[in-house]
Formats: sequence, C-alpha cells, structure tokens
Amino acid sequence: MNKRIPEPFRIKMVEPIRMTDRAFREAALAEAGLNPFLLRSEDVYIDLLTDSGTGAMSDRQWAGLLLGDEAYAGSRNFYRLSETVERLFGYPYTIPTHQGRGAEQIVFPELVKRRGSKAPVFLSNYHFDTTKAHVELAGAKAINVLTTAANDTARYDDWKGNFDLGALAAAIETHGAANVAGIVATVTCNSAGGQPVSMANLRAASEMARNHGIPVMIDATRFAENAWFIQQREEGYADRSIRDIVREMMCYGDLLTLSAKKDGLVNIGGFCAFRQDADLFRAVQVRCVPMEGFITYGGLAGRDMEAIAIGLEEAVETDYLAYRVGQVAYLGERLRQAGVPIQYPTGGHAVFVDGAAMLPHIPADSFPAHALACELYLEAGVRAVEIGSLMLGRDPATGKQEKSPLELLRLTIPRRVYTNDHMDYIADALIAVAKRAKTIRGLDFVYEPPILRHFTARFCWAGKVATTLQAAEMAEA
Ligand SMILES: *Cc1c(COP(=O)(O)O)cnc(C)c1O
Repeated sequence: MNKRIPEPFRIKMVEPIRMTDRAFREAALAEAGLNPFLLRSEDVYIDLLTDSGTGAMSDRQWAGLLLGDEAYAGSRNFYRLSETVERLFGYPYTIPTHQGRGAEQIVFPELVKRRGSKAPVFLSNYHFDTTKAHVELAGAKAINVLTTAANDTARYDDWKGNFDLGALAAAIETHGAANVAGIVATVTCNSAGGQPVSMANLRAASEMARNHGIPVMIDATRFAENAWFIQQREEGYADRSIRDIVREMMCYGDLLTLSAKKDGLVNIGGFCAFRQDADLFRAVQVRCVPMEGFITYGGLAGRDMEAIAIGLEEAVETDYLAYRVGQVAYLGERLRQAGVPIQYPTGGHAVFVDGAAMLPHIPADSFPAHALACELYLEAGVRAVEIGSLMLGRDPATGKQEKSPLELLRLTIPRRVYTNDHMDYIADALIAVAKRAKTIRGLDFVYEPPILRHFTARFCWAGKVATTLQAAEMAEA
C-alpha cells in the first residue's frame, strides 16, 4: 500500500524556506561540528528534528489568539479549555501547564507522596525521557515493560506500543503493589516510534492496576493518533467514532498529562487532568502555583489556552488523522520499497530508519545513525535526529560507551507543515544516501560534554585527523 492522501487543508499563508547547495551545507555542517542539533534552523530546508511544537495552527486557532482573556485569575479561555477536556476525555478537573513536563513536575511528587512508600516505582509501557526524569526527581524509579514485539524493527506488529502484560504483572509482584506509585500508559508510545497501544491492552493494564489499588496515569500526548490506530486496526472499533474511542481510552485512567505541542496542535502548552479524584486535583493545584503559575493559567497566556482548546478538537477530526498518519506511512512505504530498512509498520508521528542495518560497517561507538543524519543534511538539507548509542551515552560507573539495542534515525514529521511533495523529496534524498552507504564513515568526538551530550557534542569523521580548528576547540574544551 503506497497511498498518497491529499492534504485536507489549503494554504493561505506561507513561510519561505531556503534551498541551499552542497557547498553551503558542507560549510554549515562543519561550522556545527558535524552535529545537526547545532545548525541554525534557517540553514535547514526540511526540519524533521521533532514533531514537538513544530506544527502549524489553523486559521481558527490563530483567530482564537485574538480572543485571549489575559486576566490573572479565572480567564475565560481556561474555562473553554477545561470544558473541552471534559467533553473529549471525560475528565472534569484540569490544570493548565507551560508544557507536558510542567504537568509532570507537579503530578509525580504528589503521586509519590500519596503512596508513602520508601522504594516507590512507576511502571510504564515506556516512560518518555522527561517523564522518566520527573519520576526520578520525585525520588522514584522508572521501569519500562514494553512488548518485545517493538525490538524487531522488520517484523510487522499492530501494537508495538503495548505493555508486556506478563512483565507488568511480574513487576507488580516483585516490587509489591504498595510500592507502585503509578502505572503510566504512554499513548502512542513515542520511544518505540510512535507505536500504538491497543484498547484491549490499555483495559487489561488498567484492570490489573485497579485490582491492586494502583493509580493509572495516561500520558495522552498523542491520544488522537493512538485512537486512529485503534479505529483502523482493532476488532470492534472500525465503526466507532474517534471521539468515542478517545473517551473509552481515557476511562481506563485516573489522571492524564498531555503535552499540547503534539496532538494539541499548538506551539507551546500542556495540562494535566483528573477523572474523579478531587483531592488529588487540589493537591496538584497547590503545587502548580509556585511551579507553573496560578491554577487557571499555569504558565500559559489566555490566548494559548484558547488555541489548545481549538487544537484538541481539530486533532480528532477523521480527515485530519487520515492525512496525518497516512503521510507518515507514505514516507515509510516509499523508503521500504527502495530497500531502506525502517521500523515497520510506521507509527503516528515519525519514520525510524534502521541505521545499523543500513551502515553495518560502522560500529556503535562511531554512531551509524548520526553519520546518516549528517549525510542526509549534506545530501538535501534535511535535518533528522539520531536515537541510538550517541543519545544513550556512557555507563556512568565504568565510563564505557553503551551499545544501544537499536541505532535509529528518526524522521519526525511536524503536523500540517510539509506537503506530500516534501515527503517525496525526503525519500529521494535518503534513497540517494542509501546508494552510497558503503562510502559513509562513522564519527569521532572532538568535544564530548559530560551529560546530554548529543545536544552539544562536536565531531570529526572517524579516522580523520582533527583540523587545526577542531584541535583548538579540543584544547578549549
Ligand atoms: C513531548 C512529550 C512529553 C513532554 O512534553 P513537553 O511538552 O515536551 O514538556 C511527555 N510525554 C511524551 C510522550 C512526549 O512525547
């Protein structure tokens, strides 16, 4: 299936982007220390670094900005957002936050406090990285129990985002239910490639939690894309509306956090919401005030809340979702047909290219997927991101580079921003890179920061003596 779904919108404002030539890109990438993170956005033609906050708002959302009620307390836009959340998710208690991690930083400490355990843990299909960070900041351990189907990139599976229910039960048993401060269901599962969680899996995980008195938190950041997959793939849901499916998904949770920068279709914002626990809601509100802001704005302008309320409604429209998920699948299919190895099937928001399979001659500690990111930029001005050994880093105890099970290049597709022609352009570029895969070299560090190194590290091509400039940088570092 290689279906090209036309965009369900027309364009009434354009933002010019710049095509560059190879010589320009070589200079720009050298300047950036062979790290696409350090490129100026203006020097990138198509930017696939992330789908977070990079989407395009609709005319209605832009119109909504003019309806901002910037009162410190009780903004009209807060009530509009809160009513939208209740209508879509069935959760009557909402707290706006500056983005998803803002919700995480006020929710997790409260969940840990309530459990009152000395060795608290959270169990998740997969904790997103900021989610894991906030679990740990709250003094708890983050444990992932993802289905093993996700590890085999080439083998089709409908639900690569599912909980491994056996592993979930075993983890509850091992740690003791009293120590499990929460079960976190991430829909879709970002880290597995935007892969969906089935309704049956969500229901079963939730039942298990309820039998043990464990609260279920849904990380609902990509709730609409997950609902789309359920409608398309799960038996019994083909005739159910997306809204209906979203309501059912959310009934299996007790609270949710949501980064509105993804399916919320805005550039900044987020919230948490609660299904019925008014005490928990009030306790989290208390934490909101000093960390995020007063309980009816939480770090957002009134106009931002209006845009989120409108975006959430647009995200559940069938035409939009068919186009959105279809566009990602289309790019993946074009690559697959040309023999470029990808995580299959594609998820909701990104195509993951298997860099280890594509560049088997580059060892993990020379970062094959990062080399691929550099080559893709040089080839066509497309910026993508490595998710592999470079991101994973060194073992803190031994200082040895850890080997990631997968060396992936993530092509993350912003929402409503690039056309299907852009997808063809990206596919053509990557296919051209694949044709000269054997000639691509790995990378060595010129500068390696101690933590979160992938953001600011600088490199040279492996085996190449550092140039005078790079040597000077090394000396400075
Ligand atoms: C982006 C994201 C977050 C964090 O949200 P921010 O708005 O970036 O703070 C949490 N969970 C998932 C699954 C995400 O993709």
